[in-house]
Amino acid sequence: MNRIAVLTSGGDSPGMNAAIRAVAKTTVYNGKECIGVMRGYEGLIDGEYIPLDRPAVGGILHRGGTILKTARSDRFRTEEGRKEALEKMRAAGIEGLVVIGGDGSFHGAKLLHDMGMPTIGVPGTIDNDVSGTDETIGYDTAVNTALEAIMKLRDTASSHDRLFIVEVMGRNAGFLALEVAVATGAEYVVVPELPLSIGKLCQTLSESHVHKKSHTLIILAEGVMTANEMKNQLQDTGGYDARVTVLGYIQRGGSPTAFDTILASRMGAYAAESLFVGKSGLMVGNISHRMVLSDLERSWSEQKSLSPELLGLVEKLN
Ligand code: ATP
Repeated sequence: MNRIAVLTSGGDSPGMNAAIRAVAKTTVYNGKECIGVMRGYEGLIDGEYIPLDRPAVGGILHRGGTILKTARSDRFRTEEGRKEALEKMRAAGIEGLVVIGGDGSFHGAKLLHDMGMPTIGVPGTIDNDVSGTDETIGYDTAVNTALEAIMKLRDTASSHDRLFIVEVMGRNAGFLALEVAVATGAEYVVVPELPLSIGKLCQTLSESHVHKKSHTLIILAEGVMTANEMKNQLQDTGGYDARVTVLGYIQRGGSPTAFDTILASRMGAYAAESLFVGKSGLMVGNISHRMVLSDLERSWSEQKSLSPELLGLVEKLN
Protein backbone atom coordinates (compact mmCIF):
# COMPACT_ATOMS: atom_id res chain seq x y z
CA MET A 1 0.00 0.00 0.00
CA ASN A 2 1.66 3.24 -1.14
CA ARG A 3 -1.09 5.84 -1.11
CA ILE A 4 -3.89 6.26 1.40
CA ALA A 5 -6.58 8.90 1.86
CA VAL A 6 -8.31 10.49 4.84
CA LEU A 7 -11.68 12.23 5.15
CA THR A 8 -13.87 13.76 7.86
CA SER A 9 -17.61 13.10 7.78
CA GLY A 10 -20.78 13.93 9.75
CA GLY A 11 -20.62 16.68 12.38
CA ASP A 12 -17.22 18.25 13.04
CA SER A 13 -15.54 17.94 16.41
CA PRO A 14 -12.49 19.55 18.05
CA GLY A 15 -9.43 17.37 17.46
CA MET A 16 -10.33 16.25 13.93
CA ASN A 17 -7.42 18.31 12.58
CA ALA A 18 -5.02 16.65 15.00
CA ALA A 19 -6.23 13.26 13.72
CA ILE A 20 -5.80 14.33 10.06
CA ARG A 21 -2.29 15.55 10.85
CA ALA A 22 -1.42 12.27 12.56
CA VAL A 23 -2.67 10.19 9.62
CA ALA A 24 -0.71 12.35 7.16
CA LYS A 25 2.53 12.52 9.15
CA THR A 26 2.49 8.80 10.00
CA THR A 27 1.99 8.02 6.31
CA VAL A 28 4.93 10.21 5.28
CA TYR A 29 7.03 8.76 8.13
CA ASN A 30 6.42 5.31 6.63
CA GLY A 31 7.60 6.51 3.21
CA LYS A 32 4.11 6.62 1.69
CA GLU A 33 1.75 9.26 0.32
CA CYS A 34 -1.35 10.72 1.93
CA ILE A 35 -4.32 12.31 0.13
CA GLY A 36 -6.94 14.53 1.81
CA VAL A 37 -10.54 14.16 0.63
CA MET A 38 -12.59 17.37 0.88
CA ARG A 39 -16.20 17.43 2.21
CA GLY A 40 -16.46 13.82 3.35
CA TYR A 41 -18.17 11.30 1.08
CA GLU A 42 -19.33 14.11 -1.22
CA GLY A 43 -15.71 14.88 -2.12
CA LEU A 44 -14.95 11.18 -2.42
CA ILE A 45 -17.57 10.92 -5.17
CA ASP A 46 -16.49 14.16 -6.85
CA GLY A 47 -12.76 13.34 -6.70
CA GLU A 48 -11.99 16.45 -4.63
CA TYR A 49 -8.56 15.32 -3.51
CA ILE A 50 -5.61 17.34 -2.18
CA PRO A 51 -2.08 16.17 -1.35
CA LEU A 52 -1.48 15.99 2.40
CA ASP A 53 2.28 16.32 2.70
CA ARG A 54 4.00 17.66 5.82
CA PRO A 55 3.58 21.39 4.95
CA ALA A 56 -0.14 20.84 4.20
CA VAL A 57 -0.76 19.76 7.80
CA GLY A 58 1.53 22.38 9.40
CA GLY A 59 -0.03 24.59 12.10
CA ILE A 60 -3.32 22.68 12.38
CA LEU A 61 -2.71 20.63 15.54
CA HIS A 62 -4.73 22.92 17.81
CA ARG A 63 -7.14 24.35 15.29
CA GLY A 64 -10.86 23.56 15.80
CA GLY A 65 -13.10 22.25 13.00
CA THR A 66 -11.59 20.31 10.12
CA ILE A 67 -9.36 21.60 7.30
CA LEU A 68 -10.89 18.94 5.02
CA LYS A 69 -14.41 20.25 5.74
CA THR A 70 -17.16 17.82 6.48
CA ALA A 71 -20.50 17.09 4.87
CA ARG A 72 -23.46 14.77 4.90
CA SER A 73 -23.85 12.96 1.57
CA ASP A 74 -27.12 11.52 0.36
CA ARG A 75 -25.47 10.38 -2.88
CA PHE A 76 -23.14 8.12 -0.91
CA ARG A 77 -26.14 6.34 0.57
CA THR A 78 -26.91 5.00 -2.92
CA GLU A 79 -25.05 2.09 -4.53
CA GLU A 80 -24.45 4.21 -7.61
CA GLY A 81 -22.81 6.94 -5.53
CA ARG A 82 -20.55 4.47 -3.74
CA LYS A 83 -19.48 2.85 -7.03
CA GLU A 84 -18.58 6.26 -8.40
CA ALA A 85 -16.56 6.99 -5.25
CA LEU A 86 -14.68 3.71 -5.56
CA GLU A 87 -13.88 4.36 -9.23
CA LYS A 88 -12.57 7.85 -8.44
CA MET A 89 -10.40 6.47 -5.62
CA ARG A 90 -8.96 3.71 -7.83
CA ALA A 91 -8.27 6.21 -10.63
CA ALA A 92 -6.33 8.36 -8.13
CA GLY A 93 -4.29 5.36 -6.99
CA ILE A 94 -5.79 5.39 -3.48
CA GLU A 95 -5.35 1.98 -1.83
CA GLY A 96 -6.78 2.60 1.65
CA LEU A 97 -8.99 5.08 3.49
CA VAL A 98 -9.24 6.51 7.01
CA VAL A 99 -12.75 7.79 7.85
CA ILE A 100 -12.95 10.21 10.79
CA GLY A 101 -16.56 10.62 11.97
CA GLY A 102 -19.43 9.13 13.92
CA ASP A 103 -21.32 5.86 13.62
CA GLY A 104 -23.24 7.07 10.55
CA SER A 105 -19.96 7.64 8.74
CA PHE A 106 -18.85 4.15 9.78
CA HIS A 107 -21.88 2.61 8.02
CA GLY A 108 -20.43 4.13 4.85
CA ALA A 109 -16.90 2.98 5.73
CA LYS A 110 -18.12 -0.61 6.22
CA LEU A 111 -19.79 -0.58 2.79
CA LEU A 112 -16.53 0.57 1.17
CA HIS A 113 -14.69 -2.20 2.99
CA ASP A 114 -17.23 -4.72 1.65
CA MET A 115 -16.55 -3.39 -1.87
CA GLY A 116 -12.86 -4.21 -1.45
CA MET A 117 -11.45 -0.83 -0.36
CA PRO A 118 -9.39 -1.22 2.86
CA THR A 119 -10.97 1.16 5.39
CA ILE A 120 -10.33 2.10 9.02
CA GLY A 121 -12.61 4.32 11.15
CA VAL A 122 -11.54 6.92 13.72
CA PRO A 123 -14.35 8.02 16.09
CA GLY A 124 -14.76 11.81 16.04
CA THR A 125 -17.90 13.25 17.62
CA ILE A 126 -18.63 15.35 20.70
CA ASP A 127 -21.50 12.98 21.58
CA ASN A 128 -19.28 10.03 22.65
CA ASP A 129 -22.08 7.73 21.47
CA VAL A 130 -19.82 5.23 19.70
CA SER A 131 -19.27 1.75 21.11
CA GLY A 132 -15.76 0.29 20.97
CA THR A 133 -14.03 3.27 22.55
CA ASP A 134 -14.12 4.88 25.99
CA GLU A 135 -13.95 8.35 24.44
CA THR A 136 -14.46 9.85 20.99
CA ILE A 137 -12.40 12.75 19.66
CA GLY A 138 -13.94 16.09 20.70
CA TYR A 139 -15.95 14.84 23.64
CA ASP A 140 -13.53 16.03 26.32
CA THR A 141 -13.29 19.46 24.70
CA ALA A 142 -17.09 19.76 24.56
CA VAL A 143 -17.34 18.88 28.27
CA ASN A 144 -14.76 21.55 29.10
CA THR A 145 -16.44 24.16 26.88
CA ALA A 146 -19.79 23.52 28.57
CA LEU A 147 -18.15 23.63 32.01
CA GLU A 148 -16.59 27.01 31.30
CA ALA A 149 -19.89 28.48 30.08
CA ILE A 150 -21.88 27.07 33.01
CA MET A 151 -19.42 28.36 35.62
CA LYS A 152 -20.19 31.84 34.31
CA LEU A 153 -23.91 31.14 34.60
CA ARG A 154 -23.42 29.91 38.16
CA ASP A 155 -22.09 33.31 39.17
CA THR A 156 -25.23 35.07 38.06
CA ALA A 157 -27.50 32.23 39.25
CA SER A 158 -26.16 32.42 42.81
CA SER A 159 -26.46 36.20 42.89
CA HIS A 160 -30.18 35.99 42.14
CA ASP A 161 -31.31 32.76 43.84
CA ARG A 162 -32.27 31.22 40.56
CA LEU A 163 -33.18 27.89 39.07
CA PHE A 164 -31.37 27.24 35.80
CA ILE A 165 -31.98 24.63 33.11
CA VAL A 166 -28.99 24.24 30.80
CA GLU A 167 -29.53 22.24 27.63
CA VAL A 168 -26.42 20.54 26.29
CA MET A 169 -25.85 18.62 23.04
CA GLY A 170 -25.35 14.85 22.66
CA ARG A 171 -28.06 13.87 20.17
CA ASN A 172 -29.77 10.75 21.55
CA ALA A 173 -27.12 10.06 24.18
CA GLY A 174 -26.51 11.49 27.65
CA PHE A 175 -22.71 11.14 27.94
CA LEU A 176 -22.04 14.84 27.51
CA ALA A 177 -24.86 15.84 29.89
CA LEU A 178 -23.70 13.42 32.58
CA GLU A 179 -20.04 14.48 32.61
CA VAL A 180 -21.05 18.14 32.48
CA ALA A 181 -23.39 17.57 35.44
CA VAL A 182 -20.62 16.01 37.57
CA ALA A 183 -18.07 18.63 36.51
CA THR A 184 -20.39 21.55 37.33
CA GLY A 185 -21.83 20.03 40.52
CA ALA A 186 -25.35 20.20 39.08
CA GLU A 187 -28.30 19.24 41.28
CA TYR A 188 -29.97 17.15 38.62
CA VAL A 189 -29.21 15.60 35.24
CA VAL A 190 -31.79 14.52 32.68
CA VAL A 191 -30.60 12.02 30.05
CA PRO A 192 -32.37 10.05 27.30
CA GLU A 193 -31.17 6.72 28.73
CA LEU A 194 -33.24 7.07 31.92
CA PRO A 195 -36.96 7.76 32.33
CA LEU A 196 -37.73 11.25 33.57
CA SER A 197 -40.06 11.81 36.50
CA ILE A 198 -41.00 15.47 36.75
CA GLY A 199 -42.45 14.67 40.20
CA LYS A 200 -39.08 13.36 41.45
CA LEU A 201 -37.34 16.33 39.92
CA CYS A 202 -39.71 18.72 41.74
CA GLN A 203 -38.98 16.85 44.99
CA THR A 204 -35.23 17.31 44.48
CA LEU A 205 -35.83 20.98 43.80
CA SER A 206 -37.84 21.42 46.99
CA GLU A 207 -35.09 19.64 49.00
CA SER A 208 -32.58 21.95 47.40
CA HIS A 209 -34.70 24.85 48.68
CA VAL A 210 -34.85 23.30 52.19
CA HIS A 211 -31.05 23.04 52.17
CA LYS A 212 -31.04 26.76 51.44
CA LYS A 213 -29.06 26.43 48.24
CA SER A 214 -28.49 29.81 46.68
CA HIS A 215 -29.21 28.41 43.24
CA THR A 216 -30.09 25.17 41.49
CA LEU A 217 -28.77 23.80 38.22
CA ILE A 218 -30.40 21.18 36.02
CA ILE A 219 -28.41 19.77 33.09
CA LEU A 220 -30.69 18.56 30.29
CA ALA A 221 -29.54 16.42 27.34
CA GLU A 222 -31.01 17.70 24.06
CA GLY A 223 -32.27 14.18 23.21
CA VAL A 224 -34.92 14.29 25.98
CA MET A 225 -36.80 17.50 25.22
CA THR A 226 -36.04 21.17 24.75
CA ALA A 227 -35.16 23.30 27.76
CA ASN A 228 -38.28 25.40 27.16
CA GLU A 229 -40.48 22.30 27.27
CA MET A 230 -38.90 21.34 30.58
CA LYS A 231 -39.36 24.88 31.90
CA ASN A 232 -43.09 24.62 31.10
CA GLN A 233 -43.40 21.21 32.78
CA LEU A 234 -41.69 22.48 35.95
CA GLN A 235 -43.97 25.50 35.97
CA ASP A 236 -47.09 23.36 35.52
CA THR A 237 -46.15 20.63 38.02
CA GLY A 238 -44.34 22.50 40.78
CA GLY A 239 -44.86 26.18 40.06
CA TYR A 240 -41.13 26.68 39.49
CA ASP A 241 -39.88 29.57 37.42
CA ALA A 242 -36.70 28.40 35.70
CA ARG A 243 -34.27 30.32 33.52
CA VAL A 244 -33.26 28.55 30.36
CA THR A 245 -29.90 28.44 28.59
CA VAL A 246 -29.19 26.44 25.43
CA LEU A 247 -25.45 26.08 24.86
CA GLY A 248 -25.81 24.98 21.22
CA TYR A 249 -23.00 24.93 18.69
CA ILE A 250 -20.37 26.57 20.89
CA GLN A 251 -19.90 23.05 22.27
CA ARG A 252 -18.56 21.91 18.90
CA GLY A 253 -16.07 24.72 18.51
CA GLY A 254 -12.72 25.80 19.85
CA SER A 255 -9.26 24.29 20.16
CA PRO A 256 -9.10 20.70 21.38
CA THR A 257 -8.04 20.09 24.98
CA ALA A 258 -4.71 18.37 25.62
CA PHE A 259 -6.64 15.13 26.15
CA ASP A 260 -8.37 15.36 22.76
CA THR A 261 -5.20 16.47 20.98
CA ILE A 262 -3.32 13.45 22.33
CA LEU A 263 -6.24 11.06 21.73
CA ALA A 264 -6.62 12.27 18.12
CA SER A 265 -2.86 12.00 17.49
CA ARG A 266 -2.77 8.45 18.83
CA MET A 267 -5.88 7.35 16.94
CA GLY A 268 -4.81 8.93 13.63
CA ALA A 269 -1.36 7.31 13.77
CA TYR A 270 -2.83 3.96 14.79
CA ALA A 271 -5.39 4.06 11.97
CA ALA A 272 -2.74 4.69 9.29
CA GLU A 273 -0.45 1.98 10.66
CA SER A 274 -3.36 -0.47 10.84
CA LEU A 275 -4.00 0.03 7.11
CA PHE A 276 -0.30 -0.53 6.36
CA VAL A 277 -0.35 -3.94 8.09
CA GLY A 278 -3.42 -5.04 6.11
CA LYS A 279 -6.27 -4.33 8.56
CA SER A 280 -9.68 -3.20 7.25
CA GLY A 281 -13.33 -2.93 8.26
CA LEU A 282 -12.28 -1.88 11.76
CA MET A 283 -12.50 1.13 14.05
CA VAL A 284 -9.78 2.47 16.31
CA GLY A 285 -10.75 2.78 19.97
CA ASN A 286 -9.20 3.85 23.25
CA ILE A 287 -10.11 1.25 25.85
CA SER A 288 -8.54 1.60 29.31
CA HIS A 289 -5.88 3.91 27.81
CA ARG A 290 -4.82 1.43 25.10
CA MET A 291 -5.32 1.68 21.35
CA VAL A 292 -7.50 -1.21 20.12
CA LEU A 293 -9.39 -2.20 16.97
CA SER A 294 -12.97 -3.46 16.83
CA ASP A 295 -15.43 -4.25 14.03
CA LEU A 296 -17.00 -1.15 12.49
CA GLU A 297 -20.46 -2.68 13.04
CA ARG A 298 -19.91 -2.61 16.77
CA SER A 299 -19.95 1.20 16.68
CA TRP A 300 -23.67 1.21 15.88
CA SER A 301 -24.97 -2.24 16.86
CA GLU A 302 -23.81 -2.21 20.46
CA GLN A 303 -25.42 0.18 22.93
CA LYS A 304 -22.81 2.11 24.93
CA SER A 305 -23.93 2.60 28.54
CA LEU A 306 -23.65 5.57 30.81
CA SER A 307 -21.45 5.11 33.87
CA PRO A 308 -23.64 4.08 36.83
CA GLU A 309 -20.91 5.50 39.08
CA LEU A 310 -21.25 8.98 37.56
CA LEU A 311 -25.06 8.80 37.69
CA GLY A 312 -24.80 7.94 41.38
CA LEU A 313 -22.42 10.85 41.96
CA VAL A 314 -24.91 13.41 40.65
CA GLU A 315 -27.48 12.11 43.16
CA LYS A 316 -25.06 11.80 46.11
CA LEU A 317 -23.24 15.08 45.60
CA ASN A 318 -26.08 17.39 44.62
P1 ATP B 1 -22.32 12.72 13.93
O1 ATP B 1 -22.29 11.78 15.10
O2 ATP B 1 -21.51 13.92 14.15
O3 ATP B 1 -23.70 13.03 13.41
P2 ATP B 1 -22.12 10.72 11.88
O4 ATP B 1 -20.95 10.13 11.19
O5 ATP B 1 -22.95 9.77 12.70
O6 ATP B 1 -21.58 11.95 12.73
P3 ATP B 1 -24.20 10.95 9.83
O7 ATP B 1 -24.84 12.16 9.28
O8 ATP B 1 -25.05 9.91 10.46
O9 ATP B 1 -23.05 11.47 10.81
O10 ATP B 1 -23.40 10.23 8.63
C1 ATP B 1 -22.47 10.96 7.84
C2 ATP B 1 -22.54 10.46 6.40
O11 ATP B 1 -22.20 9.06 6.36
C3 ATP B 1 -23.91 10.53 5.75
O12 ATP B 1 -24.20 11.82 5.23
C4 ATP B 1 -23.78 9.51 4.64
O13 ATP B 1 -23.09 10.04 3.54
C5 ATP B 1 -22.91 8.43 5.29
N1 ATP B 1 -23.79 7.37 5.81
C6 ATP B 1 -24.47 7.35 6.96
N2 ATP B 1 -25.21 6.24 7.09
C7 ATP B 1 -25.02 5.54 5.94
C8 ATP B 1 -25.51 4.30 5.42
N3 ATP B 1 -26.37 3.54 6.10
N4 ATP B 1 -25.06 3.91 4.20
C9 ATP B 1 -24.20 4.67 3.50
N5 ATP B 1 -23.70 5.82 3.92
C10 ATP B 1 -24.09 6.27 5.12
